[in-house]
Amino acid sequence: MSTYSLDKMKLATRLIHAGAEPDPSTGAIMTPIYQTSTYVQSAPGQHKGYEYARSQNPTRAALESALAIIENGKFGLAFSSGVAATDAVIKLLSPGDEVIAASDMYGGTYRLFTKVFEKFGIKFKYVDTTNPENITAVLTEKSKLIWIETPTNPLMNITDIEAVSKISKKAGTILCVDNTFASPYLQNPLDLGADIVMHSSTKYLGGHSDVIQGALIMNDQSLKDQLYFIQKSCGAVPGPFDCFLVLRGIKTLHVRMKQHCENGIIVANYLRSHPKVQQVFWCGFLDHPNYDIAKKQMRGFGGMLSFTLKDESIEAATKVLSSTQIFSLAESLGGVESLINHPASMTHASIPREERMKNGLTDGLIRLSIGIEDAADLVEDLKQAID
Ligand SMILES: *Cc1c(COP(=O)(O)O)cnc(C)c1O
Repeated sequence: MSTYSLDKMKLATRLIHAGAEPDPSTGAIMTPIYQTSTYVQSAPGQHKGYEYARSQNPTRAALESALAIIENGKFGLAFSSGVAATDAVIKLLSPGDEVIAASDMYGGTYRLFTKVFEKFGIKFKYVDTTNPENITAVLTEKSKLIWIETPTNPLMNITDIEAVSKISKKAGTILCVDNTFASPYLQNPLDLGADIVMHSSTKYLGGHSDVIQGALIMNDQSLKDQLYFIQKSCGAVPGPFDCFLVLRGIKTLHVRMKQHCENGIIVANYLRSHPKVQQVFWCGFLDHPNYDIAKKQMRGFGGMLSFTLKDESIEAATKVLSSTQIFSLAESLGGVESLINHPASMTHASIPREERMKNGLTDGLIRLSIGIEDAADLVEDLKQAID
């Protein structure tokens, strides 16, 4: 099936066939793992489009074409991790440039911005992007990039991508959306006006907790050329085996996400009804402050949620965190198995406490990545842990 005709197909068909041309040399239906560092040339400069594997690899090329197709973009680039993809985007900038970033986002993104790039003279302004007017308020002539994440990790706040993209277009900035939590199954930021979509492919795209990888997808040729140049020059490329794993993960994204969403609804409603639970952060509740926007820009609400107990002490949270049997206590998310996490001491420990508390990321907050096990078992496990 050629990638050309895929454009007209429905998502499930695209997910399975994206990037999967039979191998021209053997007809192998799965893209082989081209475990090679270099390619033989018949004469100097005469080759088949592949010179050196930091620049090009056929397994990576298949994955990159799949990434573009599933995000409705023209170009995809695969990176050795999600943060490596983020790193490449910031390297589009120069000292003196300003970035407007969401105040509530993945801790590793915040760490990269504040601890690595600030010292190179790039200025980051953090605002609550759930109200896009906050972005307008801090825009200056030096603003070059707007970085948002929606839904956010771990508080499930929603930012209106289309509204922010209008602000960005008017200001002439680049809008990059971290789409890790939603995955392309639930949300396609390029269709809503974003310039770049970023993924930690480690999460839902890979889907099996067995690979670290990142991705960028875009429509603009010059943006793609610059990002490819940065990737090739800085070297954050994924290995061919990891590309094979993500390519394989993408083929089942739709069936996994469907189940993550179904289980998410059941667990969210169960927790909300539990007498010991104080608050559940999940964007599928009708009274979630940004429910209307979530409904407008997403096709479902996913498998991520957070909650707090009425007893807000760290001890009470710790008791739950160490009592689950099916939910494993671990960082990361988006795999087939359910995980439980304590953002304040684990995934978001790199954000100073005062910053965290300001955004509502309290010490007692518990985050769940709801897997695709039977929902009844998940509910039972949470029940025994909380009781
Ligand atoms: C995990 C994660 C990242 C970082 O990706 P890595 O693959 O761990 O480098 C970025 N953004 C979000 C939302 C994430 O969950």
